[in-house]
Amino acid sequence: MSNRLVITIDGPSAAGKGSLARNLALFLDFSILDSGALYRAFAYFHNQGLNNQDIEGSIKELLFIPEDDDTKIFYKDVDITSSIRNEEIAKVASELSALSATRKSLIDIQRNFMPSNNLIADGRDMGTVVFPKAELKIFLIASAEVRAKRRYLELQNRGQEVNMRDLIVDIEQRDMKDKTRTLSPLIPADDSIIIDSSSMPLDEVLSFTKKLAKKELNK
Ligand code: C5P
Repeated sequence: MSNRLVITIDGPSAAGKGSLARNLALFLDFSILDSGALYRAFAYFHNQGLNNQDIEGSIKELLFIPEDDDTKIFYKDVDITSSIRNEEIAKVASELSALSATRKSLIDIQRNFMPSNNLIADGRDMGTVVFPKAELKIFLIASAEVRAKRRYLELQNRGQEVNMRDLIVDIEQRDMKDKTRTLSPLIPADDSIIIDSSSMPLDEVLSFTKKLAKKELNK
């Protein structure tokens, strides 16, 4: 078991976890595990007809290239970022992520991700299941409307047209599934710090989290 430092950021869709993780990782010089991207990649390979064993093998070959406001995902030199960051794949990922076989396939991949680097891990169960001993655990929440607006802008930036009303419904349904599933439900770890970003700009969330991280790392 490595003795690296781990910071977890869990919370519902579009709460701002990805952007917080990227900025915090840049500030602290940590690597990032975007576990949602692994579940989306799982759904993507599943849709291509692969069995779980082959999906695991393919996921291990993925390359994550962090950029300023996004992380690009490559499979065998092909940029598959927009193929996995869309609402259809999110729905399939949400369905498959409730199955024990799917979670089993991904648990070791997540724990062994960049094993010698300090890590920011973002997802739903990073603080509760995957890294229960993480040094700092953040649980980031925001209202469904605020999150739908953020996701709308994100998808628009990617050139994807979506309907705001449909987006709110999709996000609420997906969160409900994530919260109420038996395995690794979306709940804050007992020792997590809950931050509500509904009326807090993400740069304020970032500076607050930076302070928490610095305090933790200086211990
Ligand atoms: O975070 P993102 O929206 O990319 O995640 C897509 C889906 O993957 C989520 O709706 C959730 O069902 C699933 N997921 C999960 N556990 C994680 C990360 C994501 O079940 N740690």
